[in-house]
Amino acid sequence: MKHFKFLFLLSMLSWATVIPAQTTYLHCGKLIDCTDKSVKSEMTVIVEGNRITDVQKGYAKAPAGAQLVDLKNKTVMPGWMDMHVHIEGESNPKSYEEKFRMNEADVALRATTYAKKTLMAGFTTVRDLGGSGVNISLRNAINQGWVEGPRIFTAEKSLATTGGHADPTNGVRKDLKGDPGPAEGVVNGVEDAWKAVRQRYKNGADLIKITATGGVLSVAASGQNPQFTLEEIRAIVAAAKDYGFTVAAHAHGAEGMLRAVQGGVTSIEHGTFMTEEIMDLMIKNGTFYVPTISAGRFVAEKAKEEGYYPAVVAMKAAVIGPQIQETFAKACKRGVKIAFGTDTGVSFHGMNAWEFIFMVEGGMPAMEAIQSATVNAAALINRSDDLGKIEKGKLADIVAVDGNPLEDIKTVLKVGFVMKDGVVFKNN
Ligand SMILES: [Zn+2]
Repeated sequence: MKHFKFLFLLSMLSWATVIPAQTTYLHCGKLIDCTDKSVKSEMTVIVEGNRITDVQKGYAKAPAGAQLVDLKNKTVMPGWMDMHVHIEGESNPKSYEEKFRMNEADVALRATTYAKKTLMAGFTTVRDLGGSGVNISLRNAINQGWVEGPRIFTAEKSLATTGGHADPTNGVRKDLKGDPGPAEGVVNGVEDAWKAVRQRYKNGADLIKITATGGVLSVAASGQNPQFTLEEIRAIVAAAKDYGFTVAAHAHGAEGMLRAVQGGVTSIEHGTFMTEEIMDLMIKNGTFYVPTISAGRFVAEKAKEEGYYPAVVAMKAAVIGPQIQETFAKACKRGVKIAFGTDTGVSFHGMNAWEFIFMVEGGMPAMEAIQSATVNAAALINRSDDLGKIEKGKLADIVAVDGNPLEDIKTVLKVGFVMKDGVVFKNN
């Protein structure tokens, strides 16, 4: 009898696996599929399970049992991809003391709220460029379906040099400073570079982030000085290549930025004092620029608020912050490849789409801004096979906004529909 029951259960299980996956028909008033630069009208996108299985002209009739989603008044796009966030944290006047008060579990639980806000704002994929390691757990939890959030590709811990931007013990009391090394992401010399990259591989990172120059938010004097030798950068890039990692380089000042591009990094983040020489070298090497105008504007604004940042940080923020949008305008005009990124976490989670507005303000056509957050972003993380377009075979990451962003870019703030991996997370 027992044996029979077991067989019965087994047959139920195998029967369950042949039930066809959920089918969804999306009727799209306007469709920007990002396979080219056109806008198509009255289209149907068909999703089975977590993949797009077809895109058809007109409003196709949904078969019995399929889910029908009416997006006739909306503009439908591939899920947006923010190539520079810090999903673990968010700027506030107490950020600098939090690391002494909060346990990892506190950081992780709070970060789940940031992940949800990001997804609801239309961002189905993010590249997380540095945190403590909670980012790895959060990525895994989202992939398991335990937490609602975007697909995360994370660098785990950023790599810095001693005292550099992302040395985790900057500004800390002497007896707590210690001497962090490659395991903690602090690199001095070629051997450390290899070890730090291998440690990220061991820890489960998806890519590598380096801080090629000083930065605004670290408690350190310079926001612009070069902080790696060319030799160290070359070693990181070579090690990264062995493990299939791309390398993102934070850079404000020109010298460190030039070394990063010469050293072969995949993308320059912020790029504040980018010269025309660097722009041309980036075009030649195919290096992406991830501008993060949002962060520049946010820190410049908050630097005026007494006590929001420590004095040394406020001084740097006032100089570096306002420059980024101008540099973006020049780089865009010159033809540098641009991928969308905000540095959210510096600014508030869920406000990522403002970057589109700042990019258009900086002279980029709205269609190109959308492409920077879809096809270009997918190319940057080597995921063009799965992400960045609405076409047959791609993962079903789809967003829709009320109105037409090509006529009014502010419509990107009105996200009414979000699907990730074939699952509807928002449908107003
Ligand atoms: Zn950042």
